[in-house]
This record gives sequence, C-alpha cells and structure tokens, in this order.
Amino acid sequence: MLPGNFRYIFFDADDTLWQNEEFFREAERRFARLLSGFADEDRIVEVVTRKQEENIPVFGYGSKTFLLSMLDAAAEICGDAFDAALYLDAKRIVTELACHEFELMDGVEEVLSVLSARYSLAVATKGDLVEQLGKFRESGLDKYFHHIEVLPTKSEDDYLMMARKLDIRPDEILMVGNAVRSDIAPVIAIGGTAIHIPYKVTWHHEMMEMPVSDRLFEIKSIRNLPELLL
Ligand SMILES: [Mg+2]
Repeated sequence: MLPGNFRYIFFDADDTLWQNEEFFREAERRFARLLSGFADEDRIVEVVTRKQEENIPVFGYGSKTFLLSMLDAAAEICGDAFDAALYLDAKRIVTELACHEFELMDGVEEVLSVLSARYSLAVATKGDLVEQLGKFRESGLDKYFHHIEVLPTKSEDDYLMMARKLDIRPDEILMVGNAVRSDIAPVIAIGGTAIHIPYKVTWHHEMMEMPVSDRLFEIKSIRNLPELLL
C-alpha cells in the first residue's frame, strides 16, 4: 500500500487511459512518405519536429498544431512546389488521425470502476479543448470521474491551480501518467505523489530525466494500480 493520504487521484489521458502517440507517429510517417520525392524521410520527420517545437508555445498542443507544423515543414522542404494538392493530402492525414479508431488501454475500465468506489478521480490532460473533450466523451469513462481539466500545459503552476480549484493541498494529489515531463516531474516538485506507467512510444517533446523521489513509483500497467492503492 502506498504511503500518503490522497484526496484525489489525477489521471493523465493520452497514452495512460487511451492510446494516442502511436497514431501521431503513424501520421508523421505517412507525411514523410508523401514528401519523400523532395527529401529523405528522416529529415522530413526532423523538420516537422522542429516546427512543432516552434508552434506549440504559440498555438498549444493537439492535431491542429500538428497539421500547421506539417504545412510549415512542407513549405520549407518543397518551396515553390508546395501546392494545393499537397495541402489537401496533409490535411487528409491529420483528419484521419483525429478520427482514428478509439482504443482504451488494457484494464482501464475495471481499474477505474474499483478505484472510484474509494477515491475521487480527476482527469488532468493537456491539449486542444474540443479534441480532448471529444476523446473523453468517446471513452465512456465520464461516470468514474468527478472532474476533468484540459490544460494548455502541465506545469507546476497548472497542477497548483487544479489543487486550488478542487480545494486540496498539493501533497493530497496522486498523479498517474506516462510522461515524465508533464505527469511526473511537476507533481513531484509541488509535493505530490506520482505513479509512472511507461508507454511503449514516448513523444520526444515529453522526454526528460526522471526525478529522484520517495514519492515516485513505477508500475508496468494500469492493471497494477489497485494493488498499490487498495
Ligand atoms: Mg500521456
């Protein structure tokens, strides 16, 4: 049983409750193939990555910013050969990404059902409001949660704001997520507890060194949560 007196369990959504990152990586590969007549596919992916890093602080997370970054990359790589057909092909890739088949992570529903009888649960996700709320609705998981927060970023301040809103202290937060930078490091820094569940694909943007803390735990699957918390 985990030490601590948690009043809320916060769950990350993308790649914690449902699969997400691999669909983005697949879309990126399709885009690289689309432009493969102009440059090496690895270089195309690199340019998209750089454009994403430039666009995220201005436009936020989500597939609309991903599309913008693909178009910026196409403009840089193809120059005057960038035409309407290329724009429409890139947009189709992102539209298909936004409408991909929805897949919950294995065991999510059972685990939330068990934990919600004992704890208050909240979702802490970042990204585009319409997109994240749409996925949440599609997940059918709303009955297990007291609160959902779609944040522009997941910084220490964002978690402190969420704690104030829910009228809890930072040390009463238990955060569960896959991303060290968004889900683990900021929660540990404000005095909360975090459970890391690594996902098979990590977005380069989320990579950072794991903090060292006795309030940080790691499990292989969300299925292992009840044995830590009940
Ligand atoms: Mg995540």
